[in-house]
Amino acid sequence: MKILVCGGAGYIGSHTCVALAARGHEVVIFDNLSNGSEDAVQRVRKLSGRPLAFVEGDVRSLESLRMVLSDGVDAVIHFAALKSVSESCSEPLAYFDNNICGTIRLLQAMDGAGVRNLVFSSSATVYGDPQVVPIHEGAVLQVTNPYGRSKLVAEDLIRDLCGARKDFNATLLRYFNPVGAHPSGLIGEDPLGTPCNLMPYVSQVAVGRRPRLNVFGGDYSTPDGTGVRDYIHVMDLADAHVKAVEQLNSSSGCQAINLGTGHGVSVLELVRAFEQASGRDIPYTIVDRRPGDVAACWADPSKAFEVLGWKAKYGVRAMCEDAWRWQLANPNGYRRH
Ligand code: NAD
Ligand code: UDP
Repeated sequence: MKILVCGGAGYIGSHTCVALAARGHEVVIFDNLSNGSEDAVQRVRKLSGRPLAFVEGDVRSLESLRMVLSDGVDAVIHFAALKSVSESCSEPLAYFDNNICGTIRLLQAMDGAGVRNLVFSSSATVYGDPQVVPIHEGAVLQVTNPYGRSKLVAEDLIRDLCGARKDFNATLLRYFNPVGAHPSGLIGEDPLGTPCNLMPYVSQVAVGRRPRLNVFGGDYSTPDGTGVRDYIHVMDLADAHVKAVEQLNSSSGCQAINLGTGHGVSVLELVRAFEQASGRDIPYTIVDRRPGDVAACWADPSKAFEVLGWKAKYGVRAMCEDAWRWQLANPNGYRRH
């Protein structure tokens, strides 16, 4: 298949491009480099052993999208979005513009070009504060911040389009907590500034870029009092995208699918696993809860197995080992322009 990967120069997109190329698909990366990097594109090419096409462009530009979609694209994977919950609370309009308007433009361009297959990056954030864990796709959808709203609205827009165009197929992949890196250490997560997420923060403490970790809350009703999440290796996510995009031609309509391991891991369990993987101490202090955090959140991933034949292969140990290999080889991440 010829696949347009919007946001393919970013963290999950770059790993997915390598996995798509390994399956023999033709990949076109489309990214405005707001949080991606040309170095990542170069490294994807190196890992794939192929000169994958890269077009610098914005999903909010109908003209740029028309250009890349005009040339026999079979499917689109849409990763392109802003993703910081805290930033979305201070700059909601930027999130609505990028994530919602960007999705509308992409759907318009696909409709115009007759491209009917879409895989969309959604998030477990659409479940808000879950009433029940593990979380099933049929759980109540509710959001607690503008980032979550942008994902929920984008999901609704895609679902409505599938209702109106019976030949339009879409899979909404709801990721739990993506972590880890390609085992080569060549590509990985490269947050700009101070990381908001646990794994990159821990990793930067281990490598000496930050003095210690603040653990947000030690009084949750969880086994050790710290927050519990479903961490999922980015290599497993990449594999799920390949399966989802390959399955689109034989599916119809719009379906939402959880991508997680089905296992909850606490902050302190993750810290210990990272200490083992890296052989470094991770000093930490337990501080107040972070506003908006939920106590525990993990997936029921059974639908992914039923529909895609996918289940997670990697555990927390591999997630930490691979994240550490990437961090050690690239202590300052990619070269940004
Ligand atoms: P990322 O920031 O590394 O990748 C997103 C890419 O999209 C970047 O390369 C960025 O430059 C590009 N981009 C952003 N806006 C664009 C625009 N308007 N036009 C063109 N390109 C644009 O993020 P990621 O972690 O790889 O996340 C990918 C997707 O998965 C996002 O949609 C995100 O919301 C979703 N997601 C991420 C997580 C996570 O924890 N990483 C969890 C759940 C869902
Ligand atoms: N966390 C933490 N310190 C940090 C970052 C995160 O203790 O510096 C905790 C956070 O409270 C949550 C877990 O780690 O319990 C995962 O947080 P992350 O931001 O990675 O993901 P999300 O909140 O989106 O699930």
